[in-house]
Amino acid sequence: MSSIKSKLPAFQESIFSRMSALAKSCDAINLSQGFPDFEVSPALIALVNERMLAGDNQYAPMAGLLSLREAIASKIQRIMDVSVLPETEITITCGATEAIYATIVAMVHTGDEVMVLEPAYDSYVPAILLQGAVPVPVSLTDDFEIDFDALKAAVSPKTKMLIVNTPHNPTGKVLDKASMLAIEEFVLQNKILLLSDEVYEHLVFDGHQHFSALELEALRQQSIVVFSFGKTFHATGWKVGYSIAPEAITREIQKVHQYLTFSINTPVQAALAVYLKDENNYKNLPSLFEQKREFLAQYLEKSVFTPLPCEGTYFMLVSYDGFSDKSDMEMAEWLTRHHGVATVPISPFYQGKKDRKLLRFCFAKNQKTLAAAGERLCKI
Ligand code: PMP
Ligand code: GLN
Repeated sequence: MSSIKSKLPAFQESIFSRMSALAKSCDAINLSQGFPDFEVSPALIALVNERMLAGDNQYAPMAGLLSLREAIASKIQRIMDVSVLPETEITITCGATEAIYATIVAMVHTGDEVMVLEPAYDSYVPAILLQGAVPVPVSLTDDFEIDFDALKAAVSPKTKMLIVNTPHNPTGKVLDKASMLAIEEFVLQNKILLLSDEVYEHLVFDGHQHFSALELEALRQQSIVVFSFGKTFHATGWKVGYSIAPEAITREIQKVHQYLTFSINTPVQAALAVYLKDENNYKNLPSLFEQKREFLAQYLEKSVFTPLPCEGTYFMLVSYDGFSDKSDMEMAEWLTRHHGVATVPISPFYQGKKDRKLLRFCFAKNQKTLAAAGERLCKI
């Protein structure tokens, strides 16, 4: 075979897969990749079974089951007081990952620039590069706030899109209304698009409120907002998410989605359409995850590690500065191999692999798992 010319020569297996595999091979407690180790609600599983047994087993419509799109629109109306049109503005996708990818493929052209705030979730940059476009990294401040001066300095006539993520993986920051208003001003002034990744919309703590890009009407007209049922209903393996965008943008996203996956798992969509109607199925998520965050933090405070503030998501950043000079990659590997706790180093979230001596701990775990990890960490 002639030699393969890679389209992504600089990329390897993701840090999430690598750390999960290392955790498995070392029999370590896995607080690395972001997934819960507790079960999906039996009621939701029963609904999926019911829909399968009832024969909902063939292709769903390309854009998603209308019943699910309607349930999403009424949920958004209920919690945000925003009207979204289920027929023309929502696309059900294979997780938020597909929504992000299809959006970038549909909207970003060769040579366009896309602004990415770093540290950034891993799927944005490769999707940009595969379009022959240019990712423009803009660092968050040392406290992980958006640096609007840096954004203004980095924008150019070629800028097509800004990607934001709130609540933010890996830093746990939540954008408030004032920040979203500043983003709106920036997006409108520069006539660019906003891709707002809001997969952790329900995981916000300490009285912080999630503020969606959908809530500002002028911004919404320039935005694609993506969500994930995997995060909301502890079912990351089901890979069902969605995008919301104005009709003209949705039409373009669906042209890509049609040829990327065509349509998404029918019985799961049908079950979610029913399950989503009851707000009791998601309104207790902040208190559930806040307890888990506190439970892990109690152990960390007695250890050589320093937990950083976490306003949202199910990730906590932890500093080991002052304890060790190891790079974050070495530290994550050492902790997994020698102390049986796997975490995620933060440098892979920066194109320049900036090492801030920080590790990300996922606390979407049973109390037993968190206690076992906490005890191991306290012995170091
Ligand atoms: N965006 C962020 C910030 C994420 O953390 C994740 C996954 N954990 C995704 C997107 C992808 O979501 P999904 O699993 O629904 O594809
Ligand atoms: N989003 C998850 C995380 O941040 C991982 C998803 C994946 O492995 N692609 O850990």
